[in-house]
Amino acid sequence: MDLTQFEYQYDHLARDVTALKREISNRLMYSVGKDPVSARPEDWLQAVSYTVRDHLVERWMKTTRAQYDQDVKRVYYLSAEFLIGRTFTNAMLALDILPAVRQALQEMDVDPDQLFELEPDAALGNGGLGRLAACFLDSMATIGVPGFGYGIRYDYGMFRQKIVDGRQVEAPDYWLTQGNPWEFPRPEVQMRVRFGGHLEQSGDTVRWVGTDDVLAMAYDTIIPGYGTQATNTLRLWSARATEEMNLRAFNQGNYMGAVESKNQSENVSRVLYPDDSTLSGRELRLRQEYFFCSASLQDIVRRYLRTHTGFDALPDKVSIHLNDTHPVLAIPELMRLLVDEHLVPWDEAWALCQRVFSYTNHTLMHEALETWPVDIFGRVLPRHLRIIFDINARFLASVTAAHGQDTELMRRLSLIDEGGERRVRMAYLAVVASHSINGVSALHSELMKASIFKDFAQLWPERFNNKTNGVTPRRWLSQANPGLSALIDQRIGRNWRRHLDELEGLRHALEVPGFLAAFRMVKRGNKERLARLVLERLGVTLNPDALFDVQVKRMHEYKRQLLNVLHVVTRYQAILANPDAQWVPRVVVFAGKAASAYHMAKLVIKLINDVAQVVNHDPRIGDRLKVVFIPNYSVSLAEVIIPAADLSEQISTAGTEASGTGNMKFALNGALTIGTLDGANVEIREHVGPENIFIFGATTEEVAQIRAKGYQPRAYYERVPALKAALDAIRDGVFSRDEPGRFQPIYDALVNWGDHYLLLADYESYVEAQEQVDALYRNADEWSRRAVLNVAGMGVFSSDRTIAEYANQIWHTRPVLLPAPRHKSADVPG
Ligand SMILES: *Cc1c(COP(=O)(O)O)cnc(C)c1O
Repeated sequence: MDLTQFEYQYDHLARDVTALKREISNRLMYSVGKDPVSARPEDWLQAVSYTVRDHLVERWMKTTRAQYDQDVKRVYYLSAEFLIGRTFTNAMLALDILPAVRQALQEMDVDPDQLFELEPDAALGNGGLGRLAACFLDSMATIGVPGFGYGIRYDYGMFRQKIVDGRQVEAPDYWLTQGNPWEFPRPEVQMRVRFGGHLEQSGDTVRWVGTDDVLAMAYDTIIPGYGTQATNTLRLWSARATEEMNLRAFNQGNYMGAVESKNQSENVSRVLYPDDSTLSGRELRLRQEYFFCSASLQDIVRRYLRTHTGFDALPDKVSIHLNDTHPVLAIPELMRLLVDEHLVPWDEAWALCQRVFSYTNHTLMHEALETWPVDIFGRVLPRHLRIIFDINARFLASVTAAHGQDTELMRRLSLIDEGGERRVRMAYLAVVASHSINGVSALHSELMKASIFKDFAQLWPERFNNKTNGVTPRRWLSQANPGLSALIDQRIGRNWRRHLDELEGLRHALEVPGFLAAFRMVKRGNKERLARLVLERLGVTLNPDALFDVQVKRMHEYKRQLLNVLHVVTRYQAILANPDAQWVPRVVVFAGKAASAYHMAKLVIKLINDVAQVVNHDPRIGDRLKVVFIPNYSVSLAEVIIPAADLSEQISTAGTEASGTGNMKFALNGALTIGTLDGANVEIREHVGPENIFIFGATTEEVAQIRAKGYQPRAYYERVPALKAALDAIRDGVFSRDEPGRFQPIYDALVNWGDHYLLLADYESYVEAQEQVDALYRNADEWSRRAVLNVAGMGVFSSDRTIAEYANQIWHTRPVLLPAPRHKSADVPG
């Protein structure tokens, strides 16, 4: 069959409401097995999802076939996390069938918006790192990079956060209860992943024997590109017990034992580790990492060998990108496959590795740098430990050959940390094996070379580079903010969805009469939408004319939600002291999850909720200040919160936030940023203009100087009266009358125990910046003008730009060529 012709009919049908209705009814009956009369909303959602998916499958097959026919170089993006959120609306936008589907559903007496809200988030990630991977998949498909995502199909994603009595309570996120219409199970694709056992050496060959094995079964999700026929694949692995594991236990006549060991081996893909900033030292985590690396590498090698003999062409056909250190076991796994299974000589195999792998670093924080105790490693992966020792020996020998014997240098460079318990340094392994090592913002990339990888950057300066993060404008503007998108379309057309630079054109819109007022109307509508959600979920009424001041992100000391709270308490006290002043009404919004074992972060959540209780119920305050903590921060919640923000809080201690992407989403949606010169804030300032952003606080150099001089937080406490008043109120139980000592640990951490993240040092500068915020907000036109200039300057922060840089400078890939569709291009969105 002529695919193009077929597709023409299909895309045409997709906009035909009558045909859509027929497809939806068919899907409801034949795939979901329900009659329209008795179908629940969940059943309708499934039926419509299948219908939309059908329209994607066609494009998917065509792209996959073209990749194969053209033998293109493929990019494999390995990530332990993909924080995708909902797929339904995104898929409809990609196909440009949202209006038709809406109409079809309405004609069938089904409320489309109610359906959209039923879809669970695919929350297979913790925060920024996982969301970046999701934005990258979207951009790879959109700009035509032949890319595969590889990761783990966790049964339980990121926990659901409830707030009970002001405290975080974690509930399991079993996201697959209703089935997942977006994935295709591939029972025919199962990889054997081996664990444990021991090594047998004979001559030069090493055999890894006596292992306990698990099968990795593939599930594929279609990743549609926007405004293109190109689609990509996200392949996630799910653990299955092996047949012999089942039989062995069963033959011993122990049925429960069989079930037990089946569960044991399938546990490896059960749950996402709810922490992306400190490494839980659990062996299961190491098994998870190896599980998906091994399955992915076997799959990649197998696909390559379908069209090649020998491995010479491997680096021309395969790029493997490591998103942080979680997939670094892919390196020794490729060495094992090449050397042990395909008998490639070691030096050749190593040269291939170095041309295939590239690595992104996401953090400089010491506690987040992944290392594994050698004894655990050797027990779980004895062959890989041996390979790493061999890599290390050769690497250190080559350094000695070039730089002479320098024990101190060897100690610093070694892949094995020999101080105390011996540990494998995963980031170093990534650096040694990769031809490219990148940071995620200009500042972070410089700091990376000057700190954790200093010695390596001197050895191989050419390997280190920067790729500033970005976000996909499809989800973070087009989908999340339909009001602003429509307003932008009126001024500059629809192309910005694929060419975000075109937002520059909004500068001219500033001259158009009524534009600023229309922009403000859109923002107000978004604030009303958020206010409805807050009323529904929290029972708190928000005034949509107030300034919406928003900090939403993971709860972490370095992100300094507590500095924000100090300002809130200061403002509360100032309003009480001076009730007749002309206060700019404010709503301070928080949301974010704390890792379950992170007590200080959880205490800060409790403090925010306790402060909210007191402030929101104090009759002397009224509308002048409201505080809300919205539970269960997630992608779908972010899509409602971010478009409603006037002010974006990006206030991490300078030098700690690698890039941030929340900061980009907010500015793109017309919020002004109050922030430190940290991560990508530095570049946001350059692009929106320093007069259109509120920068405060110590710079990275100043942070270093303050610490070097011996930081004395108590001196600030004693010198700054408003700071002392706020801290005393927190310590003395003003917000915790039922338990006055509850927040003593917070006070102590700041005043007595060194205030590691320098909140007290930055407090005055922060409060002063907040006063400038108030002053500007009083001038509605001037505020809106600057907000528009923020939107106009954000073009460079599209993840399309980021991915184009990766493709051109790291992966050296070309877009796959697809036969042009026969219908006129006006049918393709943007
Ligand atoms: C963008 C995003 C993040 C990252 O936010 P930062 O402010 O950069 O830390 C985390 N979680 C979700 C759900 C997001 O959408």
